[in-house]
Amino acid sequence: MTAIRLPTTRSPGSVLGAAPGVTESAEAYRATGGHAGTTDPDALLRHLDASGLRGRGGACFPAAVKLRAVRDRGGAPVVVANGEEGEPGSVKDRWLLRARPHLVLDGLAHAAAITGAVRGYVYLSDPEAGASVRRALAEREPHLPVEVVETDHTYVAGEESAVVRRIDGGPALPTTKPPRPFERGVGGAPTLVSNVETLARIALTAAHPGLRRTIARSTLVTLSGGHSEPVLAEVPYGVPLRTLAAWHGTPAPGGALMGGLFGGLVDGRALDLPLEPDALAAAGTALGCGAIRFLAAGACPVATAADAVGHLAAESTRQCGVCVSGTAAIRDT
Ligand code: SF4
Repeated sequence: MTAIRLPTTRSPGSVLGAAPGVTESAEAYRATGGHAGTTDPDALLRHLDASGLRGRGGACFPAAVKLRAVRDRGGAPVVVANGEEGEPGSVKDRWLLRARPHLVLDGLAHAAAITGAVRGYVYLSDPEAGASVRRALAEREPHLPVEVVETDHTYVAGEESAVVRRIDGGPALPTTKPPRPFERGVGGAPTLVSNVETLARIALTAAHPGLRRTIARSTLVTLSGGHSEPVLAEVPYGVPLRTLAAWHGTPAPGGALMGGLFGGLVDGRALDLPLEPDALAAAGTALGCGAIRFLAAGACPVATAADAVGHLAAESTRQCGVCVSGTAAIRDT
Protein backbone atom coordinates (compact mmCIF):
# COMPACT_ATOMS: atom_id res chain seq x y z
CA MET A 1 0.00 0.00 0.00
CA THR A 2 1.44 3.34 -1.05
CA ALA A 3 0.13 6.65 0.27
CA ILE A 4 -0.33 9.46 -2.22
CA ARG A 5 0.87 12.78 -0.90
CA LEU A 6 -0.75 15.60 -2.82
CA PRO A 7 0.73 19.10 -2.80
CA THR A 8 -1.04 21.53 -0.51
CA THR A 9 -1.49 24.00 -3.36
CA ARG A 10 -2.78 22.44 -6.58
CA SER A 11 -0.98 23.55 -9.70
CA PRO A 12 -2.37 23.12 -13.22
CA GLY A 13 1.15 21.91 -14.11
CA SER A 14 0.95 18.90 -11.77
CA VAL A 15 0.42 15.33 -13.00
CA LEU A 16 -1.15 14.32 -9.68
CA GLY A 17 -4.93 14.37 -9.91
CA ALA A 18 -7.27 15.95 -7.42
CA ALA A 19 -8.30 12.74 -5.68
CA PRO A 20 -5.98 9.77 -5.13
CA GLY A 21 -7.66 6.43 -5.69
CA VAL A 22 -10.38 7.93 -7.86
CA THR A 23 -10.18 7.48 -11.62
CA GLU A 24 -10.57 10.81 -13.36
CA SER A 25 -13.45 10.66 -15.83
CA ALA A 26 -13.43 12.42 -19.19
CA GLU A 27 -15.83 14.98 -17.73
CA ALA A 28 -13.65 15.70 -14.69
CA TYR A 29 -10.57 15.88 -16.90
CA ARG A 30 -12.21 18.40 -19.20
CA ALA A 31 -13.47 20.46 -16.26
CA THR A 32 -9.87 21.00 -15.08
CA GLY A 33 -8.59 22.09 -18.48
CA GLY A 34 -7.97 18.73 -20.12
CA HIS A 35 -7.83 18.50 -23.92
CA ALA A 36 -7.01 22.23 -24.00
CA GLY A 37 -3.98 24.14 -25.25
CA THR A 38 -1.77 23.91 -28.30
CA THR A 39 -2.63 21.31 -30.90
CA ASP A 40 0.06 22.33 -33.37
CA PRO A 41 2.61 19.48 -33.26
CA ASP A 42 5.56 21.62 -34.37
CA ALA A 43 4.80 24.26 -31.75
CA LEU A 44 4.48 21.58 -29.06
CA LEU A 45 7.80 20.04 -30.09
CA ARG A 46 9.44 23.46 -29.75
CA HIS A 47 7.95 23.83 -26.27
CA LEU A 48 9.28 20.39 -25.30
CA ASP A 49 12.71 21.29 -26.66
CA ALA A 50 12.76 24.56 -24.77
CA SER A 51 11.52 22.95 -21.55
CA GLY A 52 14.26 20.30 -21.55
CA LEU A 53 11.75 17.58 -20.65
CA ARG A 54 13.51 14.26 -19.98
CA GLY A 55 11.93 10.82 -20.21
CA ARG A 56 10.69 9.40 -16.92
CA GLY A 57 11.16 5.70 -17.67
CA GLY A 58 14.69 5.59 -16.29
CA ALA A 59 17.19 6.75 -18.89
CA CYS A 60 16.24 10.46 -18.62
CA PHE A 61 16.71 10.89 -22.39
CA PRO A 62 15.47 14.22 -23.85
CA ALA A 63 11.84 13.70 -24.89
CA ALA A 64 11.98 16.06 -27.89
CA VAL A 65 15.03 14.29 -29.35
CA LYS A 66 13.30 10.92 -29.10
CA LEU A 67 10.12 12.23 -30.72
CA ARG A 68 12.08 13.83 -33.54
CA ALA A 69 14.06 10.63 -34.16
CA VAL A 70 10.83 8.69 -34.79
CA ARG A 71 9.27 11.47 -36.85
CA ASP A 72 12.34 11.74 -39.06
CA ARG A 73 12.30 8.02 -39.96
CA GLY A 74 9.12 8.67 -41.98
CA GLY A 75 6.79 5.84 -42.96
CA ALA A 76 3.86 5.02 -40.68
CA PRO A 77 5.21 5.24 -37.14
CA VAL A 78 3.67 3.67 -34.04
CA VAL A 79 3.47 5.19 -30.55
CA VAL A 80 3.45 3.17 -27.33
CA ALA A 81 2.57 4.37 -23.83
CA ASN A 82 4.78 2.21 -21.65
CA GLY A 83 3.20 1.71 -18.23
CA GLU A 84 5.06 -1.44 -17.29
CA GLU A 85 7.35 -0.47 -14.43
CA GLY A 86 9.65 -3.28 -13.38
CA GLU A 87 11.89 -1.42 -10.94
CA PRO A 88 11.21 -2.55 -7.37
CA GLY A 89 9.37 0.05 -5.33
CA SER A 90 8.05 2.10 -8.25
CA VAL A 91 4.28 2.59 -8.43
CA LYS A 92 3.97 5.89 -10.26
CA ASP A 93 3.13 4.50 -13.70
CA ARG A 94 0.35 2.18 -12.61
CA TRP A 95 -0.99 4.99 -10.44
CA LEU A 96 -1.07 7.40 -13.39
CA LEU A 97 -2.86 4.85 -15.59
CA ARG A 98 -5.37 4.10 -12.85
CA ALA A 99 -6.05 7.68 -11.79
CA ARG A 100 -5.36 9.90 -14.83
CA PRO A 101 -5.84 7.77 -17.95
CA HIS A 102 -7.04 10.71 -20.05
CA LEU A 103 -3.91 12.72 -19.32
CA VAL A 104 -1.74 9.80 -20.48
CA LEU A 105 -3.92 9.14 -23.55
CA ASP A 106 -3.77 12.83 -24.49
CA GLY A 107 0.03 12.63 -24.25
CA LEU A 108 -0.06 9.59 -26.53
CA ALA A 109 -2.25 11.48 -29.01
CA HIS A 110 0.16 14.46 -28.99
CA ALA A 111 3.12 12.08 -29.50
CA ALA A 112 1.26 10.56 -32.46
CA ALA A 113 0.62 14.00 -33.95
CA ILE A 114 4.30 14.97 -33.61
CA THR A 115 5.67 11.72 -35.06
CA GLY A 116 2.95 11.16 -37.67
CA ALA A 117 1.93 7.88 -36.03
CA VAL A 118 -1.26 6.24 -37.21
CA ARG A 119 -1.84 3.87 -34.30
CA GLY A 120 -1.00 3.58 -30.65
CA TYR A 121 -0.71 1.07 -27.83
CA VAL A 122 -0.91 1.22 -24.06
CA TYR A 123 1.35 -1.46 -22.60
CA LEU A 124 0.89 -2.52 -18.97
CA SER A 125 0.62 -5.40 -16.53
CA ASP A 126 -1.57 -3.97 -13.77
CA PRO A 127 -5.19 -5.22 -14.25
CA GLU A 128 -6.68 -2.18 -12.49
CA ALA A 129 -4.71 0.15 -14.76
CA GLY A 130 -5.88 -1.83 -17.79
CA ALA A 131 -9.53 -1.50 -16.75
CA SER A 132 -9.12 2.23 -16.19
CA VAL A 133 -7.51 2.78 -19.61
CA ARG A 134 -10.20 0.73 -21.37
CA ARG A 135 -12.94 2.77 -19.67
CA ALA A 136 -11.21 5.98 -20.70
CA LEU A 137 -10.82 4.83 -24.31
CA ALA A 138 -14.56 4.13 -24.45
CA GLU A 139 -15.19 7.76 -23.35
CA ARG A 140 -13.03 9.31 -26.07
CA GLU A 141 -13.38 10.21 -29.71
CA PRO A 142 -11.46 7.50 -31.59
CA HIS A 143 -9.11 9.88 -33.45
CA LEU A 144 -6.15 7.58 -32.84
CA PRO A 145 -6.78 3.80 -32.78
CA VAL A 146 -5.32 2.61 -29.46
CA GLU A 147 -5.00 -0.97 -28.29
CA VAL A 148 -4.24 -2.10 -24.74
CA VAL A 149 -1.59 -4.84 -24.59
CA GLU A 150 -1.00 -6.66 -21.31
CA THR A 151 2.10 -8.47 -20.17
CA ASP A 152 3.29 -10.38 -17.13
CA HIS A 153 5.02 -8.20 -14.56
CA THR A 154 8.79 -8.83 -14.64
CA TYR A 155 11.93 -6.75 -14.15
CA VAL A 156 12.66 -6.52 -17.89
CA ALA A 157 9.15 -6.50 -19.41
CA GLY A 158 9.18 -2.68 -19.67
CA GLU A 159 12.54 -2.50 -21.49
CA GLU A 160 11.74 -0.95 -24.87
CA SER A 161 12.79 -3.85 -27.11
CA ALA A 162 10.86 -6.25 -24.84
CA VAL A 163 7.83 -3.98 -25.22
CA VAL A 164 8.04 -4.16 -29.01
CA ARG A 165 8.52 -7.93 -28.95
CA ARG A 166 5.48 -8.45 -26.70
CA ILE A 167 3.24 -6.17 -28.79
CA ASP A 168 4.30 -8.12 -31.86
CA GLY A 169 3.01 -11.28 -30.18
CA GLY A 170 6.26 -12.63 -28.74
CA PRO A 171 7.57 -12.91 -25.18
CA ALA A 172 8.36 -9.73 -23.23
CA LEU A 173 12.11 -10.26 -23.47
CA PRO A 174 14.76 -7.78 -24.63
CA THR A 175 16.37 -8.18 -28.05
CA THR A 176 19.85 -7.22 -29.16
CA LYS A 177 20.27 -3.65 -30.44
CA PRO A 178 20.54 -2.19 -33.00
CA PRO A 179 17.98 -1.87 -34.38
CA ARG A 180 16.36 0.23 -31.70
CA PRO A 181 12.58 0.68 -31.76
CA PHE A 182 12.83 4.14 -33.35
CA GLU A 183 14.53 2.43 -36.30
CA ARG A 184 12.52 -0.76 -36.44
CA GLY A 185 9.82 -1.37 -33.87
CA VAL A 186 6.27 -2.70 -33.79
CA GLY A 187 5.53 -4.52 -37.05
CA GLY A 188 8.84 -3.18 -38.40
CA ALA A 189 7.63 0.44 -38.18
CA PRO A 190 9.54 3.28 -36.49
CA THR A 191 8.20 3.18 -32.94
CA LEU A 192 8.17 5.60 -30.04
CA VAL A 193 8.13 3.72 -26.74
CA SER A 194 7.47 6.39 -24.15
CA ASN A 195 6.97 6.15 -20.41
CA VAL A 196 3.47 7.13 -19.28
CA GLU A 197 4.68 9.91 -16.97
CA THR A 198 6.61 11.42 -19.89
CA LEU A 199 3.41 11.36 -21.96
CA ALA A 200 1.45 12.94 -19.11
CA ARG A 201 4.00 15.76 -18.99
CA ILE A 202 3.75 16.21 -22.77
CA ALA A 203 -0.05 16.59 -22.43
CA LEU A 204 0.40 19.09 -19.59
CA THR A 205 2.91 21.07 -21.64
CA ALA A 206 0.40 21.25 -24.50
CA ALA A 207 -2.30 22.44 -22.11
CA HIS A 208 -0.09 24.89 -20.18
CA PRO A 209 2.87 25.93 -22.36
CA GLY A 210 3.56 28.84 -20.04
CA LEU A 211 4.36 26.31 -17.31
CA ARG A 212 6.59 24.15 -19.53
CA ARG A 213 9.71 24.61 -17.41
CA THR A 214 7.90 23.78 -14.15
CA ILE A 215 6.32 20.72 -15.77
CA ALA A 216 9.68 19.50 -17.10
CA ARG A 217 11.48 20.09 -13.81
CA SER A 218 9.01 18.33 -11.54
CA THR A 219 8.89 14.59 -11.20
CA LEU A 220 7.02 11.76 -9.51
CA VAL A 221 8.97 9.91 -6.83
CA THR A 222 8.09 6.77 -4.91
CA LEU A 223 9.78 6.97 -1.52
CA SER A 224 10.06 3.87 0.64
CA GLY A 225 12.27 2.14 3.18
CA GLY A 226 13.00 2.85 6.80
CA HIS A 227 10.00 2.27 9.01
CA SER A 228 7.51 4.49 7.18
CA GLU A 229 4.92 3.53 4.61
CA PRO A 230 5.78 4.16 0.93
CA VAL A 231 4.73 7.52 -0.46
CA LEU A 232 4.11 8.69 -4.02
CA ALA A 233 4.65 12.40 -4.46
CA GLU A 234 5.49 15.03 -7.05
CA VAL A 235 8.54 17.12 -6.25
CA PRO A 236 10.66 19.73 -8.04
CA TYR A 237 14.15 18.91 -9.26
CA GLY A 238 16.82 20.23 -6.94
CA VAL A 239 15.40 19.17 -3.60
CA PRO A 240 18.17 17.43 -1.58
CA LEU A 241 17.74 13.67 -1.08
CA ARG A 242 18.15 14.23 2.66
CA THR A 243 15.14 16.54 2.67
CA LEU A 244 13.09 13.89 0.86
CA ALA A 245 14.18 11.28 3.40
CA ALA A 246 13.09 13.46 6.32
CA TRP A 247 9.84 14.22 4.57
CA HIS A 248 9.24 10.51 3.99
CA GLY A 249 9.87 9.78 7.66
CA THR A 250 13.36 8.26 7.49
CA PRO A 251 15.54 10.70 9.42
CA ALA A 252 19.34 10.29 9.19
CA PRO A 253 19.26 7.48 6.62
CA GLY A 254 22.43 5.46 6.14
CA GLY A 255 22.07 5.49 2.35
CA ALA A 256 19.58 4.80 -0.41
CA LEU A 257 18.82 2.49 -3.29
CA MET A 258 18.34 4.84 -6.24
CA GLY A 259 15.97 4.53 -9.18
CA GLY A 260 14.71 1.14 -8.06
CA LEU A 261 17.92 -0.80 -8.67
CA PHE A 262 18.95 1.26 -11.73
CA GLY A 263 20.93 3.89 -9.78
CA GLY A 264 22.59 1.47 -7.38
CA LEU A 265 23.25 1.87 -3.68
CA VAL A 266 24.59 5.18 -2.39
CA ASP A 267 25.95 5.88 1.08
CA GLY A 268 24.87 8.58 3.50
CA ARG A 269 27.19 11.23 2.04
CA ALA A 270 25.26 11.12 -1.26
CA LEU A 271 22.13 12.25 0.51
CA ASP A 272 23.23 15.86 0.20
CA LEU A 273 22.92 15.55 -3.59
CA PRO A 274 20.02 17.30 -5.29
CA LEU A 275 17.29 15.28 -6.97
CA GLU A 276 18.33 16.17 -10.50
CA PRO A 277 19.31 13.77 -13.31
CA ASP A 278 22.64 15.36 -14.29
CA ALA A 279 23.84 15.95 -10.73
CA LEU A 280 23.02 12.37 -9.77
CA ALA A 281 24.68 10.97 -12.90
CA ALA A 282 27.82 13.03 -12.22
CA ALA A 283 27.95 11.45 -8.76
CA GLY A 284 27.77 7.95 -10.26
CA THR A 285 24.15 7.20 -9.48
CA ALA A 286 20.85 7.84 -11.27
CA LEU A 287 17.36 9.16 -10.71
CA GLY A 288 15.97 6.45 -12.99
CA CYS A 289 12.23 6.02 -12.51
CA GLY A 290 12.25 8.05 -9.28
CA ALA A 291 11.88 5.11 -6.90
CA ILE A 292 14.09 5.76 -3.86
CA ARG A 293 14.39 3.35 -0.97
CA PHE A 294 16.04 4.89 2.07
CA LEU A 295 18.06 2.74 4.44
CA ALA A 296 17.14 3.33 8.05
CA ALA A 297 20.01 4.46 10.27
CA GLY A 298 21.96 1.35 11.22
CA ALA A 299 20.55 -0.81 8.41
CA CYS A 300 23.15 -3.09 6.87
CA PRO A 301 24.11 -1.90 3.35
CA VAL A 302 25.69 -5.28 2.55
CA ALA A 303 22.41 -7.06 3.27
CA THR A 304 20.59 -4.50 1.10
CA ALA A 305 23.05 -5.04 -1.76
CA ALA A 306 22.71 -8.82 -1.38
CA ASP A 307 18.91 -8.53 -1.60
CA ALA A 308 19.25 -6.40 -4.73
CA VAL A 309 21.60 -8.84 -6.46
CA GLY A 310 19.34 -11.73 -5.42
CA HIS A 311 16.43 -9.97 -7.09
CA LEU A 312 18.42 -9.37 -10.29
CA ALA A 313 19.56 -13.01 -10.39
CA ALA A 314 15.99 -14.24 -9.90
CA GLU A 315 14.72 -11.91 -12.64
CA SER A 316 17.45 -12.79 -15.16
CA THR A 317 15.86 -13.89 -18.40
CA ARG A 318 18.85 -16.17 -19.00
CA GLN A 319 19.53 -14.80 -22.48
CA CYS A 320 23.03 -13.38 -21.97
CA GLY A 321 25.99 -15.37 -20.69
CA VAL A 322 27.38 -12.59 -18.53
CA CYS A 323 24.04 -12.21 -16.76
CA VAL A 324 23.36 -15.95 -16.36
CA SER A 325 26.71 -16.73 -14.82
CA GLY A 326 27.84 -13.32 -13.54
CA THR A 327 24.77 -12.19 -11.60
CA ALA A 328 24.31 -15.58 -10.00
CA ALA A 329 28.00 -15.73 -9.10
CA ILE A 330 27.83 -12.31 -7.41
CA ARG A 331 24.72 -13.41 -5.51
CA ASP A 332 26.43 -16.59 -4.32
CA THR A 333 29.65 -14.85 -3.24
S1 SF4 B 1 19.88 -12.28 -19.50
FE1 SF4 B 1 20.10 -10.58 -18.08
S2 SF4 B 1 21.16 -8.98 -19.24
FE2 SF4 B 1 20.37 -10.47 -20.74
S3 SF4 B 1 18.37 -9.64 -21.31
FE3 SF4 B 1 17.99 -11.08 -19.66
S4 SF4 B 1 18.01 -9.83 -17.78
FE4 SF4 B 1 18.94 -8.60 -19.41
